[in-house]
Amino acid sequence: MSRYIAIKRDREINVVLHCSHSPSVEELLENLEVIAVVDVNSSHGFYFLAYDLRSGSFRVHRLKVPKIDWRRIKELQRNATKSRKPGAWATARCALRKAHRRRRAALLSAVAEATKELRGKRAVAFIDVPFDESLRNSGLQRTLRSFAKRLENSLGFHGIPVIERTLPSKRCPLCGGKLEEAERRGETRVMRCTGCGMVFERDSVPALHALKLFLEEAEVEELAENLARHYRLSAQRR
Ligand SMILES: [Zn+2]
Repeated sequence: MSRYIAIKRDREINVVLHCSHSPSVEELLENLEVIAVVDVNSSHGFYFLAYDLRSGSFRVHRLKVPKIDWRRIKELQRNATKSRKPGAWATARCALRKAHRRRRAALLSAVAEATKELRGKRAVAFIDVPFDESLRNSGLQRTLRSFAKRLENSLGFHGIPVIERTLPSKRCPLCGGKLEEAERRGETRVMRCTGCGMVFERDSVPALHALKLFLEEAEVEELAENLARHYRLSAQRR
């Protein structure tokens, strides 16, 4: 069974929930325990944040989508063209298949992880798979789309509706100001708001925008501060 429901919180927001197995979406929303946000990014991979509405605590999982070493594969293919040795093409094909398999396995384990985190809870999940024009029809875009589909099916099976939504990553979730990259510490990319001066770990920005649809302003602020602390950023608003 599929259900569609529209929630209008203000003029701007119009969310459509799609739920395959939950009999009552309205009842679920009234007794919500966890809001999860999944951000799938072609360059960074998978970012998962689950926010517990009762305790105000959160959990974060991160997964890097394994890169395909195109240079090596191109080289193997070039060698195969030149050498004409039997088996050279097979080697190239095998390397490519192996790289795809590795990427698929990583995404499937991310689906399992997200499902495990939310199973048995009254939860909704936002998922953001940005459609990147440069990736149109590419294998990666297909992989990311099929990942989103799988996650939707898996969560839907446990009665968790999935909201597909494009979430802003360059706008401040607190004041709406423009975000600029302030520094980069290994995996952590720090964004600073040009309006209020607040700092964010880059991947947590879309999640905060999603949570804004359900939380009060003060709760979003508190979570933003806790997240900044979690990433050891000194959160100072002007
Ligand atoms: Zn701001």
